[in-house]
Amino acid sequence: MTDVKYTIELFEPLQHLFQVTIHISPKDEHPVLFELPNWIPGSYMIRDFAKHVIAPKASDHLGALTLTHQDKCRFSVKHKNQPFQVTYQYYAYDLSVRKAYLDQEFGFINPCSALYSVKGFEEKIHHIELVQPNSEEFAKWQVATGLKQIDDSEKFSWGNYQATNYQTLTDHPILFGQLDIAEFTIEDVPHYLITAGRHFGDLERVAKDLKPLCQYHCDMFNGLPEEVDQYLFLTMVTDNGFGGLEHLNSTALLCSRYDIADASTEIEDNEDYQTFLSLCSHEYLHTWNVKRLKPREFIPYQFEQEVYTKQLWFYEGMTSYFDDLSLVQTGLISKQKYLKTLGKALSRIERGQGQLNQSVLDSSFHTWSKFYQQDEAAPDQIASYYVKGAAIACMTDLILLANSNGQVNLKHIMNEAWHKFGKTNLGTTQEKLEELFLHYLPKQFHQTFIDALYNAEKLNLVEVFNDIGVTLKYQSQQDYTNFSTNAEPTVNWLGAMLTTGFPPKVKQVLNNSPAQRAGIAVSDELIAINDIKISDKSLKVLLKNNSQPYCEIRFFRKDQLLTSKLPLEPSEPFIADLQITDQEKVDWWLQI
Ligand code: ZN
Repeated sequence: MTDVKYTIELFEPLQHLFQVTIHISPKDEHPVLFELPNWIPGSYMIRDFAKHVIAPKASDHLGALTLTHQDKCRFSVKHKNQPFQVTYQYYAYDLSVRKAYLDQEFGFINPCSALYSVKGFEEKIHHIELVQPNSEEFAKWQVATGLKQIDDSEKFSWGNYQATNYQTLTDHPILFGQLDIAEFTIEDVPHYLITAGRHFGDLERVAKDLKPLCQYHCDMFNGLPEEVDQYLFLTMVTDNGFGGLEHLNSTALLCSRYDIADASTEIEDNEDYQTFLSLCSHEYLHTWNVKRLKPREFIPYQFEQEVYTKQLWFYEGMTSYFDDLSLVQTGLISKQKYLKTLGKALSRIERGQGQLNQSVLDSSFHTWSKFYQQDEAAPDQIASYYVKGAAIACMTDLILLANSNGQVNLKHIMNEAWHKFGKTNLGTTQEKLEELFLHYLPKQFHQTFIDALYNAEKLNLVEVFNDIGVTLKYQSQQDYTNFSTNAEPTVNWLGAMLTTGFPPKVKQVLNNSPAQRAGIAVSDELIAINDIKISDKSLKVLLKNNSQPYCEIRFFRKDQLLTSKLPLEPSEPFIADLQITDQEKVDWWLQI
């Protein structure tokens, strides 16, 4: 046997420890090299997963073998040309979709973060055995994974699974626990919505909402990728987490127990549920767009170090545009609600000066050290290839629709990209993507599109919206702080993000804001305005009702009390407001 097998056990759930045993039959007498990825596709940051590996040991039937660490993520094993095994514990206490988690309620492994590859065996069949603990408390636990089940026990059973090679193994997360499962079918392919962790929702109802979203994306690409014969939404439910990561035939999701709808939930009235559906839609679209159709640089993934690509404006931008658009186009939310949601995204782009310091191509390229390592200055320094990428997607869609009387749209580009570069497994380059967009876009918009990608400048969307029957106006922030949109008349604002409670601590200060001009900085503790203690209420009143151009603000920096003049002025108009003026044209866009 020259295949490789991984046995995964819930070693000490209360101590958050899995145990992994890798069984190998070496091909010759040379030492065997084991390597663990340093990052996981879809989340572009070096995470050094091997730091969670505890005491790896090698042995064969005669006893211990020598295991030598080569660097942070690799070790080699000297063996006797006989089958041997490597065993280690993995500390699983990262409640995110990127690594692993285990406690008494549920477990999760993203194999990319926990299972070593074996050099020379990467293209072999990889066997995975999931071992159910003996004790009573795990009697009702099941497992859910998109890995191929190879014994004929029931679905979601513990037991034996396999992947065609190592890279495939890394793309199949595994969820353990008392699972709540709802099933639906898209084009004869079973889809499962699976949760672990307490919630108060109705999964059948959520599945009913997911079904048209999945169908929507299938229609965009003329069906599911051939090899997808099941799809799983693997959802960890917790108190207030949120996140998603795309995989080959599943997605790993993290949400709050309050995000999951029950039978009576109105989507439009429940921002959290709408966001959850949009997340599901986003990750499902990735089944095509980035998991199969992907940057050529990612074929195959190089897990050792950063892999640079300029193309995330396409892979995350298009996906982000369609995640919300799919909700209105399938009738799950109204046009007005969609325009409100889109307006919020456009406001986020304008709220800081990030787009003036970085193009979306640069944002993609530097994601490893910037987008994924944001600090308090991020809104003024970073352009989001997600949000601005989505705005570029929207701009393209509207230009195509307005110039073809509603006949051509962005889905045509997505479909062609899929058939040319995805199905064929060729991958894309930045040049090929540009060529494709310019092929569809009318000539007079070519420069607009190229500028949108390459320039660190504002997008001019007013006319583009106008041509599709929507007015776009930017207004001042209508609340004093925290960059929210409330329905109050324009008031003066601070331009800083604060913590709640007293004294509020400054989390973020925008460039050019009154707070910045007053010399307020991150970590300052705000005490009083015009000798009144600062609170949510007093800020609102004092900033609004002041006839002077300034008020006096007191704050602690470190342990020193400082006083400064805070200018009283409204924000720059950065809150996007979208209103329909031509229903027929809008229907080209928002109805299918
Ligand atoms: Zn994404």
